[in-house]
Amino acid sequence: MDVIGILGGTFDPVHHGHLRLALEMRAVARLDEVRFVPVGTPAHRAPPVAEKRLRARLLRAAVAGIDGFTVDERELERCGPSYTVDTLDELRHERPDVAWCLIIGMDQFLLFDQWHRWRAILGAAHLCVAQRPGTRTQLPAGLETVLSEARIDDAKTLRALSHGCIFIGQLPVLDISSTRIRALLAADQDPRFLLPDPVLELIKLERLYEYDE
Ligand code: ATP
Repeated sequence: MDVIGILGGTFDPVHHGHLRLALEMRAVARLDEVRFVPVGTPAHRAPPVAEKRLRARLLRAAVAGIDGFTVDERELERCGPSYTVDTLDELRHERPDVAWCLIIGMDQFLLFDQWHRWRAILGAAHLCVAQRPGTRTQLPAGLETVLSEARIDDAKTLRALSHGCIFIGQLPVLDISSTRIRALLAADQDPRFLLPDPVLELIKLERLYEYDE
């Protein structure tokens, strides 16, 4: 079975933290491919600053020429809030031969039981959770139980089963956020080396993030 990672986000803009997360998770979880899925209308946070088509263009510029990294724009076409479970249901329907793996940070896993139809997510995909090495996390009791039942330590299991496993990858996390990059740009400071040069060139060309949101 092919194993494909899904990395959702606002990508407002995409940066090296996202790209390293995808690359490192691909290595430890032995993923064949990582698909970046920009969210159209986020369900649980303020609307993104950049328009959705522009965020997708920035993403395409970031992954151009990187083997095994692709952009999937399906959530941008959808009306109403973007729910991960709908995307995973669609993907599973299109490619039942693939083990889909949703990549999330431990900070998001802590809130996972508040996600829309979170149990259905585990019915459609595996979870690959990125944890900073050396950190320990106190999960809410319900999630602790789910984790104890679903946790796998050998990435090979992701390929053997189609869904329902939770793999925790110990990955370094770069201290980079889109919020900081937007703040630097609004203050007319240089965000170079936090994000790929072609992405920054496009941001300048389109005059994005010039003002505080
Ligand atoms: P913002 O600052 O606007 O909240 P962000 O930088 O957190 O944005 P998102 O697009 O919201 O970026 O993140 C998409 C995914 O990437 C999330 O799962 C998030 O946890 C993860 N992520 C973001 N920044 C990093 C980073 N520096 N290292 C590892 N993972 C990251």
